[in-house]
Amino acid sequence: MALIETHGLTAFYGDFQALFGVDMHVDEGETVAVIGANGAGKSTLLRSISGLIRNAPEQILYEGKKIGALPAPDVVCQGIAMVPEGRRLFPSLSVEENLLIGRYGRSGGGLWGLDAIYDLFPVLKERRNSPGTALSGGQQQMVAVGRALMSNPRVLLCDEVSLGLAPVIIKDIYAAFPKIRATGASIVIIEQDIGQALKVADRVYCMMEGRVTLTGTPASLSRDDIHAAYFGVH
Ligand code: ATP
Repeated sequence: MALIETHGLTAFYGDFQALFGVDMHVDEGETVAVIGANGAGKSTLLRSISGLIRNAPEQILYEGKKIGALPAPDVVCQGIAMVPEGRRLFPSLSVEENLLIGRYGRSGGGLWGLDAIYDLFPVLKERRNSPGTALSGGQQQMVAVGRALMSNPRVLLCDEVSLGLAPVIIKDIYAAFPKIRATGASIVIIEQDIGQALKVADRVYCMMEGRVTLTGTPASLSRDDIHAAYFGVH
């Protein structure tokens, strides 16, 4: 069953239209990658689902119910958490305080608490009292993922977690996804690295200029198709 569906999703920044009728869905327990060049609309899609952009009240469904008018904090309470582009930690707060902020919106118990996050990313336990600003980019990204998990989401939306990070660090962060997935959560990742996206995802959406240009399982998509859908050329 689809947990999240968008039907003809449009999005605007003032007069500028960034999405033109995006149809996508995320099933329970599924990992979905959204790929596409800079400016394709990937972040706008996640921001629309998570409530950071609000101009499509009818076009976004969660478990069959319209959530497109809910404010962002209410979307978290429904079970959809976002790891935003740029990590956005609170610089003056420690690692642990940043993680604890993620408990907002948590419903009841659940799997994810500080201990589970520290098991997932052991380096964060060592740095638990360090301020956000004292961390490397990769460690900050781990905090951003951990903070989102602290709300015990059913859907984790990740905007370009590998941006600007060294390959060895990207590997550490990506190693967390199968473990998160094993808890039953659905994951949506935005990724510019096509190889990385194809490795981790059950299904892929490719976007260009505000539209979905290709979708399918990694095994069903040829390099040529992806290239055409990504760049608009053969
Ligand atoms: P990137 O990898 O650069 O984040 P993206 O695929 O995530 O690319 P979006 O960030 O969703 O793309 O941007 C889609 C379009 O919307 C782009 O043309 C971008 O310039 C525009 N856009 C994004 N944010 C804003 C904003 N706050 N105000 C105006 N236009 C915006």
